[in-house]
Parts: sequence; C-alpha cells; structure tokens
Amino acid sequence: MTSTAAPALPDAQRHILAQALADAISYQDPPLECADCDTLAALCPQCTARLTQARAYLALRRQLGMGPPPSGAGSAASSRA
Ligand SMILES: [Zn+2]
Repeated sequence: MTSTAAPALPDAQRHILAQALADAISYQDPPLECADCDTLAALCPQCTARLTQARAYLALRRQLGMGPPPSGAGSAASSRA
C-alpha cells in the first residue's frame, strides 16, 4: 500500500484543521499541578495518557505536512482549571 501522500485539502480547510489540531494538542497539556503526579513524583497514568494523545495529534500534523503548532498556541489552556 502506498498511502503516504497527504490528502489534498483546500487551503481554508487545511488552515482550520491545523488550528483544530493545535487546539487539541494544547487541550491535552497535563495540568501544572496534579496531586497524583505529586504523590508518584512522576507522571501519573492520566497525565501520561494526555501526553500520549497530544503526541498522536502532533504526529498527525506532521503527517499532513503542517509542522509543529506555533508557539503560544497553548496559551488558551491556561484558562483551564
Ligand atoms: Zn498527573
């Protein structure tokens, strides 16, 4: 199977998809403070799962030729409790 080519999307849709993935990545950022991580002195399973999901989103962006999200894209995450 030779399905390595990225799907062709119109630029407008491509921009929206890139933004959606950047939002999803920032949403999966582990919280700055996590009681479970503090107890374990390491990433807890829940925070590990979030990082794994964020890495999958990043990999998808790369596969689609979108590169890493711009720095500062995660600033919206700071409003999360
Ligand atoms: Zn944690």
